[in-house]
Amino acid sequence: MSKNVFIDNLLETPSYGWQDAEGRLIIPTTKQLWAEAARRINIFRTRKNWISAISVIMMICMIPFAVAFGANYFSWPLAIGAVAYGMVVMGTHGTIWFHRYCTHRAYTFRHPIVRILTQHLVIKTFPEEMYVISHHVHHVKSDLPGDPYNPQGGLMYCMLSETNHHSINKNLCEAHYAKAARFMQHTGVQINSYEQYKRWASIATPQYTVFTWLINWAFWYTAFYFIGGHALATALFSGALLWYIGVRAFNYTGHGKGEVKHKDGIDFDRSNLSINQSRPGLLAGEWHNNHHLYPGSARAGFLKGQLDLAWLYIYSLYKLKLVSSYKDSKAEFLRKYALKGHARDMKPLSGTAYTRAQLEEEGRRLEEESRKLEERA
Ligand SMILES: [Zn+2]
Ligand SMILES: [Zn+2]
Repeated sequence: MSKNVFIDNLLETPSYGWQDAEGRLIIPTTKQLWAEAARRINIFRTRKNWISAISVIMMICMIPFAVAFGANYFSWPLAIGAVAYGMVVMGTHGTIWFHRYCTHRAYTFRHPIVRILTQHLVIKTFPEEMYVISHHVHHVKSDLPGDPYNPQGGLMYCMLSETNHHSINKNLCEAHYAKAARFMQHTGVQINSYEQYKRWASIATPQYTVFTWLINWAFWYTAFYFIGGHALATALFSGALLWYIGVRAFNYTGHGKGEVKHKDGIDFDRSNLSINQSRPGLLAGEWHNNHHLYPGSARAGFLKGQLDLAWLYIYSLYKLKLVSSYKDSKAEFLRKYALKGHARDMKPLSGTAYTRAQLEEEGRRLEEESRKLEERA
């Protein structure tokens, strides 16, 4: 474990623990994982479990939409649309909102209205803190014991990580609670006082969480209904459910399923197991190895062909003067890593290199772009 007491104790430790006495990762059995999930979503045992249970409740509430779509409105075009909505729209929104804004503060909104519109751009899923707090811990302890979605724990360790590892410690002292709440301050989520936290064991208030969820779903169902009737509305809610469940697998595959899968010229950060994968990259802007190098960057697609839809959204809002500032680490990445060939020093383990000529070409193009921008300014 790291020596950061705050980070070490920020999340509620699962009953099976993070690590053994020798500091090795404890890998629970599938049965232990399910038992832990059942224990932590049991709101009848303690109301403090509500934040771990809410995603499960939301998923259960989405099932009737999927059943109605399958039974009454199924068509292939709508099914394909639903998958595209889940994989691309929900996926990219996850990167824009939960990942780059809420967790890493990679950009700032000019007005709270724009922030709220961005937050509700798609069907509501996770309560923000369930993504944000655990993700901060993930960056500090990537692939080490205590990483809430350590891929070496196995697929189900990651699939059940939200219920089992994401809620904040139920016994934080006042100072540590205040520090944890600061991770959420800019998101606009209504935050519990320390007294309220002792009652609910969450940062977000339950009333805010439930109220915004219901308003969001009512709005989107009505909007989709007016566009394409119950058929479209149930299809897209099914797509949202697909993403809501499926996104958990990314935490496993995005870190090489617990194995070293770095490719030379593609994955420059060798300090953890994260890799740049085409599917989450192209569909949702999640170039995860780049992201681990520059977590605070509003852009993660750095190399040619690394399309980044989330960045396109953020940059478009900037051009429209709706986003006031952003951090873009692409130039620094190319200068520090790609162009100087540091990847080669890092002794790559597998894969084909991105050729030096390609990197130099990309660097020239970028310099040209920034010169043009400067001329215009
Ligand atoms: Zn990661
Ligand atoms: Zn991150």
